Parts: sequence; C-alpha cells; structure tokens
Amino acid sequence: MAATTRRGWEMIVVLMGPPGAGKGTQAKAICAELQIVHLSTGDLFREAVREGTPLGLEAQTYMNRGELVPDAVTVAMLLERLDRPDASNGALLDGFPRTLPQAEALEEALRARGSRVDLAIYLAVPREVLLSRLSGRWMCRDCSATYHESFNPPTVAEQCDRCGGELFQRPDDRRETAEHRLDVYMEQTVPVIEYYRRKGILVEVNGDQSREAVERALQDALRARRVG
Ligand code: AMP
Repeated sequence: MAATTRRGWEMIVVLMGPPGAGKGTQAKAICAELQIVHLSTGDLFREAVREGTPLGLEAQTYMNRGELVPDAVTVAMLLERLDRPDASNGALLDGFPRTLPQAEALEEALRARGSRVDLAIYLAVPREVLLSRLSGRWMCRDCSATYHESFNPPTVAEQCDRCGGELFQRPDDRRETAEHRLDVYMEQTVPVIEYYRRKGILVEVNGDQSREAVERALQDALRARRVG
C-alpha cells in the first residue's frame, strides 16, 4: 500500500455483523450519507468467482463450504482494492476484517499511510432470526441487491427491481451451510469485535428491528462519533 499521508476527510468505517445481519443493506445507506465507497469482501469474492479469475477459483472452494478464505489472500485483495482512487475519501468495509490477523494487517497497512479505522459498528441479531433471514434471501447477479421472499420480495419474481438482473439464491445460504457460517463467525469474528471494543471505537447496534429503525440507530451512532 502506498505510504500517503492521511487527509483530513479520509474515513474508514468497519461494519461487522453475522451473515444475515443486514450489513449489505445498511452499508449502502451509510456510504450514501458519508460519500465513501462500499467495499464488501464477499462481493469482491463473488465477482472474482463470476469472472472465473484464479482468485475466484481459489475462493470458491472455501465459500461453498461456508469457510473463510485464507487471510493472506483476503488481506491482499482488500488492500489492493482500498488503494484505488475511488477509496481516497475513505471506505466502509463490509465483511472485513473477519479474523484477528486480518484486523492487525489492516491496522498496520492503514498506519503505514497515516490512517486508521475511525469507527467499528457491530450489528447484533439473534441466531434464529439470522437463519430465517438467510434461508429466504435472494440476491441480484448483476448489482448484488438483496431481497427476502417473505420480508422484502421483488415486484416481479426472480427479477431485480433496481436493475432488472436475475435473482438467485446463494448456495452458501442453504440452512446447513448457513448454520456453519454462523459457527465460523462466532469463533473467528467475535474476537475482532472485542479487539475494536478494547480500542474504544466499537458501537453496537440492535439489528433485530425494522430497516428504518436500524438506519436511524446507525445515523445516531455516526453523529455521536462525529463521522456523520
Ligand atoms: P459474505 O457475503 O460477507 O457472507 O461472504 C461470503 C463468503 O466470502 C464467506 O463465507 C467467506 O467464504 C468469504 N469471505 C468474505 N469476506 C471474508 C473475509 N474477510 N475473510 C475470509 N473470507 C471471507
């Protein structure tokens, strides 16, 4: 990563929460508000899989099993993406870091360019709610918009309201794999939440409320930290 000096307005926000917590939906609202780019490692991996790149081929085997892609691969991909010009205002990291070594690698890379994580948000949702959300989730192949067959169905079945793209069910959202992803999350990512809590930059938001209520709680959290 280039050793540039942090500019006054560069802002790095980490958005954490188990699979199905609503990170993708909320990330879009936060990015629009703060004018920063949304970087989702899950989306970056899915794009690589779709394009059949070597990175995609490697990532796919882990993703299909609900396992994490190895840290070295994930960190290299994220840092390369963070270095592109559209992230010069800052970025909202969605789904990264997911392990302590990833959090430490991020901190070191940001420090090298005079930057740091400004705020870490944890969206907390009970396990049973997560499982019901994941098993009914549909995603657009083209723009990654998400829908839910009961809570937020598309206007036309299997078609994205936003871009008209085809909707599909992620293979890793099947119940058994989803259960495993939640176990992996608890084991690997809970220590990352504690890591940011110890640094005093963690804000916990109840993600088990309406989308609008979560959005308001997030706005309040951003304002309280003077990043909104
Ligand atoms: P997500 O869309 O965030 O649920 O991510 C889907 C899958 O991509 C995960 O189950 C992992 O296999 C992989 N993945 C996404 N982000 C990371 C990360 N930070 N570290 C390792 N694997 C990741």
